[in-house]
Amino acid sequence: MTDRNDDLFDTARRVIPGGVNSPVRAYGSVGGTPRFLASASGARVTDAAGQEYIDLVASWGPALLGHAQPDVVAAVQDAATRGLSFGAPTEGEVELAELIADRVRHGDARPVERVRLVSTGTEATMTAIRLARGATGRDLLVKFAGHYHGHSDGLLAAAGSGVATLALPGSAGVPAPIAAQTLVIDYNDPDALAAVFAEHGDRIAAVIVEAASANMGVVAPLPGFNRLIAETAHAHGALMILDEVLTGFRVHPAGFWGLQQEAGEEYQPDIITFGKVVGGGMPLAALGGRAEVMDLLAPTGPVYQAGTLSGNPLSVAAGLATLRLATPEVYDAVDAAADRLATALDAALTDAGVVHAVPRAGNLFGVVFAPDAPRTYAEAQAQESFRYAPFFHAMREQGIALPPSVFEAWFLTVAHGEEELAAIEAALPAAAAAAACAQP
Ligand code: PLP
Repeated sequence: MTDRNDDLFDTARRVIPGGVNSPVRAYGSVGGTPRFLASASGARVTDAAGQEYIDLVASWGPALLGHAQPDVVAAVQDAATRGLSFGAPTEGEVELAELIADRVRHGDARPVERVRLVSTGTEATMTAIRLARGATGRDLLVKFAGHYHGHSDGLLAAAGSGVATLALPGSAGVPAPIAAQTLVIDYNDPDALAAVFAEHGDRIAAVIVEAASANMGVVAPLPGFNRLIAETAHAHGALMILDEVLTGFRVHPAGFWGLQQEAGEEYQPDIITFGKVVGGGMPLAALGGRAEVMDLLAPTGPVYQAGTLSGNPLSVAAGLATLRLATPEVYDAVDAAADRLATALDAALTDAGVVHAVPRAGNLFGVVFAPDAPRTYAEAQAQESFRYAPFFHAMREQGIALPPSVFEAWFLTVAHGEEELAAIEAALPAAAAAAACAQP
């Protein structure tokens, strides 16, 4: 039986490559027709056929407060009445930059002295890399296999997210000389880090790392690994770019960096990138860092970066409203919900006899069909990922929308209350049973 989603997908494929504007939305790894969403409110989304789902995608992270949070929507509406885009500085963007800088702190440590607003996480990481190259006068970049930092040329080598889901080694269309500037090493591997710096140390501009990796499934850094990256990079005159596009303002008011500082793992990244929650669901991202590095950006410095829509007033309004509403109580509630669901997921898969792990990084979690939580991309890929499609569809049939790939985190919002959490818990046993019966 077809419904409005199938009709739309047929039409979409005639006019949009693959019918989608971002690859993982196409359901390539789970099969079936993507849901075309018509509306979203709180913890729920409604598709084009009128079917409602409890949502564990949260727009891939931004919706920390839940969808269409009334105060955030009102702030955007209010901003819209004053103009959609100016291409000029605004008071709001100054407030947002100050708020970001103020929130990312621990004791005396304040790694964000200056902030530049951009429109997407891809722009933030791309600019951070250019800045690191400009600051050091070096070309090489170290990234970790399975980490995703957006779709700019140099960052698609062995990337996570859709690149992992589609099992691509990288992307066509990236010139070999550009790909050669990126050195890819295993995550959570101190020896690989030491080796790459031993061989190329005086040519490396920066190491870019997801603060906690969540684009090859959730793979937390081993204790001390992020600090080791900072120390190793700095010992060789290179910078550490901490990518908090996904984790920033989601796992803690000061991001995963903040969580780690509280846990006693102190280190100083040179540039931090933000996205997703910082824009409250609107196109907005940012990079921040030490003044002497950030001031190398034009117009004060020689590293060029610009954007017609940078600091867009509607996006800034959404970001400001979201960050102001993201109180410690919000993080406590999301953390508690994550604990509860991770426990229920683990129990359901155990009861069904499915080999699994439930990896965690703060309030991020997901499922892995392997006995142990992976530490590297190779370990993440080695799981029985064929079990995810039946699991995903069994959840969907019970009204729960999971990310359509095993390589993505499950995202909770503060709007997931007792009713939603109980419904997700109730759906898990049937999904676990479906995973148990799955054939490769
Ligand atoms: N960095 C990380 C860690 C991400 O998870 C993402 C997107 O998922 C990006 C960068 C790219 O952000 P965007 O999709 O806004 O370009």
